[in-house]
Amino acid sequence: MKHAVQYLLGLDIQELTKLVENYGQKPYRAKQLYDGIYKQRITSLDQLTVFPKDLREKMQTDGIAITGARVDQRFVSRDGTIRYLIGFSDGQSVETVWMPDGDDGEAGDGTEAGEEETAPTRFRRATICVSSQVGCAVNCKFCMTALLGLKRNLTPGEIVGQITAVLNDHQVDMAKERVNIVFMGQGEPFNNYDNFIKSVRLLVRGVRIGESRMTVSTSGIVPRIADLGQEEIRPKLAISLNASNDAKRTNLIPINKKWDINALIEAAKAFPLRRRENITFEYVLLEGENDSPENAQEVVGIVKSMGKPPDRVKLNLIAWNSGPEIPFHTPSDSRVHEFQNAIRAAGIPAYIRRPRGRDIYAACGQLKKIVTIESAVV
Ligand code: SAH
Ligand code: SF4
Repeated sequence: MKHAVQYLLGLDIQELTKLVENYGQKPYRAKQLYDGIYKQRITSLDQLTVFPKDLREKMQTDGIAITGARVDQRFVSRDGTIRYLIGFSDGQSVETVWMPDGDDGEAGDGTEAGEEETAPTRFRRATICVSSQVGCAVNCKFCMTALLGLKRNLTPGEIVGQITAVLNDHQVDMAKERVNIVFMGQGEPFNNYDNFIKSVRLLVRGVRIGESRMTVSTSGIVPRIADLGQEEIRPKLAISLNASNDAKRTNLIPINKKWDINALIEAAKAFPLRRRENITFEYVLLEGENDSPENAQEVVGIVKSMGKPPDRVKLNLIAWNSGPEIPFHTPSDSRVHEFQNAIRAAGIPAYIRRPRGRDIYAACGQLKKIVTIESAVV
């Protein structure tokens, strides 16, 4: 009898234990399977040589496979960034981005401390930007992903599968090389909270990526900020502020009607920070919309109202990345620097996120499965 395909990636140790028990196996087999799929990142049961051959074959005949995430296409930017189109068995696909040198968004968060001796020479601080949903329902006016609408949530296996596919493509050795993960691809991670947080646990315990190397960005789903604060294993938090007052924020991010800036700040204030951890506010600069000196002062007021010490909050400024059909403009570099200086003058750390892979539509807010840039396809 033909069975539906069942993917192992995404299952935790308890679920794998049940599965091997169904094959009359002892629990240590579950641990072997867990290490095989997450630590060694095998892509086929044939590679699981610690399992007897007949057991592997039986599982394969039953329709068990490792992952449903496959690399459909790669677009390589002249700055070294790679945008992957990752497809799933139902025909849906998402984007995952590899940035070999990060985007400076990590600056000031402590992750670069002491990195010099161990950092590999082939990449400085590689960052993988992962998607949590196919499309997005939040409908931010400046974001190309919003134009897709929400197609569906990704499963934990599909979230982890994007990362293992990219790590395998670069043959990353997790014991020696460090990689940062940002949940900033397609989708609002907090609108797919359970699958997102399960994927985090698998990445930390299984793939062995430290939780302090992961950051999740939310457009401001306030109740889930409180939930994240209660998690034993969790990434760092970034909040997309993007406007300096409620009238502007509601125009740009419609959910601000439900959770306004005050609600966001209260949630951020209550968020329990770990040692050396800080909260990031992201701020997309849109020319003539939210980039004036007055806007900068409003942002200072908002951040200061949190009452946190200055080393616990930072601002990540992102000059808007353009996209077809979106009626905004990118401010000039000098305008962006003026904004940064105004924030810094108030004693708040502010960094400018370098646009990575703009030429291949891989930068923040550009993920919309654009495939018509043939020159970049490899
Ligand atoms: N959905 C989450 C995470 C993905 S977006 C969120 O919105 O926070 C990651 C960051 O890119 C967010 O801070 C978002 O505001 C920003 N962004 C979206 N569209 C952008 C664009 N066109 N140019 C620059 N940044 C953009
Ligand atoms: Fe969704 Fe984030 Fe884009 Fe807003 S900015 S539409 S929340 S992906």
